[in-house]
Amino acid sequence: MSIPLEVTRLSDSTIQLRQPKAAHWEAPFLFLLFGTERALLLDTGASADAEHLPLRETVDALIDEWLRTHPRPDYELVVAHTHAHGDHIAADGQFAGRPRTTVVGTTIDEVIAFFGFDGWPAHPVQLQLGDRDIDAIPGPGHEPSAVVFFDRETGILFTGDTICPGRLYIRDRAAFRATIDRLVAFRDTGAPRVTVLLGSHVEMSTTPGADYPAGTVDQPDELPLDLPPTVLDEVRQALDDEIDPSGNVVRDRFILSYKD
Ligand SMILES: [Zn+2]
Repeated sequence: MSIPLEVTRLSDSTIQLRQPKAAHWEAPFLFLLFGTERALLLDTGASADAEHLPLRETVDALIDEWLRTHPRPDYELVVAHTHAHGDHIAADGQFAGRPRTTVVGTTIDEVIAFFGFDGWPAHPVQLQLGDRDIDAIPGPGHEPSAVVFFDRETGILFTGDTICPGRLYIRDRAAFRATIDRLVAFRDTGAPRVTVLLGSHVEMSTTPGADYPAGTVDQPDELPLDLPPTVLDEVRQALDDEIDPSGNVVRDRFILSYKD
């Protein structure tokens, strides 16, 4: 018996998926966005096998359902990643051989080549799903090939592990700071407007500043995933704060954790 993903419909054309805690303690969030010509899957979760993560089956069913009301021959699927850590790419192999499907590689060179980034990491580029435009914003700092995605249709900024209600592991602090500055600039100059940030994990509890340790499988009082656009300012300010002896800067809704 495989463990089903938790499926939440954020809009008619935007699906949030979560690998449940019962399947893997990382319990990453994944997202599926439908455009007229292709769908975009962001991340493939923490398990390769379909028993712990029946992702291909779930995505195929959701695409079939979409195509029943939005018929389109030769509908494509792009599988891209917020970053290359193992709990975000593990089920890539489930999409091998799927017709009309591109699984974006996970090295910096492969990410730059697929999206057509020019002068990485300075400038965002656009990915078209047909009638739906996605901005891909370079996001190194947590991981070198990280990308933040902005959906103009919903105003959602998909921030991966760069910003989520959890531990923000900073492995290159100069790159991370530049990424936060880039996201603030994008938020402040971009149109349409960023309405919400959705990252990839929830590790904070509803008690301000208190996190569930790595490996926790039961989080009865976890914070919701969504964060307001102003959290970008909080993260930027926290980057100037004094780091405690354990290498952290603790804030109510996130913890900067320096690993460089
Ligand atoms: Zn990560």
